[in-house]
Amino acid sequence: MKTILLSSNDIKTAAELLLNGEIVAVPTETVYGLAANALNATAVAKIFTAKGRPQDNPLIVHIAGRHQLYNLVENVSDTAVKLMDAFWPGAITMVFPASPIVPSVVTAGLATVAVRLPSHPVMLDIIKAAGVPFAAPSANCSGLPSPTRAEHVLDDLDGKIAAVVDGGACDIGVESTVLDVSGETPRILRIGGVGQSDIERVLNMKIALDTNGGDKPSSPGQKYRHYAPKTPLTVLEDGDPGIHIDRDNETVVYLCPAERANMFKKHIVYGSLSEPESLARGLYSALREADKSGAERIIAVCPKGECFAAVRDRLYRAGMDN
Ligand code: AMP
Ligand code: MG
Repeated sequence: MKTILLSSNDIKTAAELLLNGEIVAVPTETVYGLAANALNATAVAKIFTAKGRPQDNPLIVHIAGRHQLYNLVENVSDTAVKLMDAFWPGAITMVFPASPIVPSVVTAGLATVAVRLPSHPVMLDIIKAAGVPFAAPSANCSGLPSPTRAEHVLDDLDGKIAAVVDGGACDIGVESTVLDVSGETPRILRIGGVGQSDIERVLNMKIALDTNGGDKPSSPGQKYRHYAPKTPLTVLEDGDPGIHIDRDNETVVYLCPAERANMFKKHIVYGSLSEPESLARGLYSALREADKSGAERIIAVCPKGECFAAVRDRLYRAGMDN
């Protein structure tokens, strides 16, 4: 298959391809997504094949307006409404009891469905032009760092998908926060673009973090290794005395905030501690660059603090099993 590179003006072409059952990579404010018509099970199945995604890992359904939510879910709690009012459009995904209209390939057979209203204008325009919601996981090969630019999508999926819409670099750079609002008490299943304390402030209560998975994780995606470059990666806490050990080793590349750049011979800066969002924005691109650098090992300097929660989560998962 030849993958067509579309521009953000080619909304109609992208929508037509999607309505014809093709899969198309699209920009969102979090990361690039690999979209299919969420109501077409055959189209959705192509996502799993192209990405090599495990069949039991459910997809997030993206909508362009709240009216589309009510067809997809059985019940919208008061908690969910408060969160939608505060954070949609934006980087928060909510898990609801699924309506029978949602194909089981989307939910991986669960009784719930994850839904998000993104803010990226190109993504919204394509959903509106197609008139259907899109199931869309990150547009990378399963397990690798998520794509934050169209070229990252092509690095992983060229020849396996119908098209990629180039919308420039993603603003946030890490995935959405996933929150389960299907039960009595909301739980955070994945920390991402929206912080835990922001959610707690809106709901005026403490929210449990249930992001570690275990044998029977509430969010099936939690049990897989994710976001990992091909080169082995070790995480070092910023300020850890061990940070000096390999600083002059030419076979190691350090991934670090700008403020630490002068500590290491071979390094890639992924953002600045003075602007926490910049570290999230630059993380995946830096991981991909580190893979291409020829280094035998990556050491990632991990910033400390709640404002870096999503970056910390991604780095520790990327370093799992190393
Ligand atoms: P990705 O699309 O790769 O960003 O991953 C989507 C994440 O949302 C995965 O970690 C899934 O496990 C999680 N997810 C999607 N649908 C559900 C659901 N119905 N219940 C719990 N977690 C979900
Ligand atoms: Mg993903």
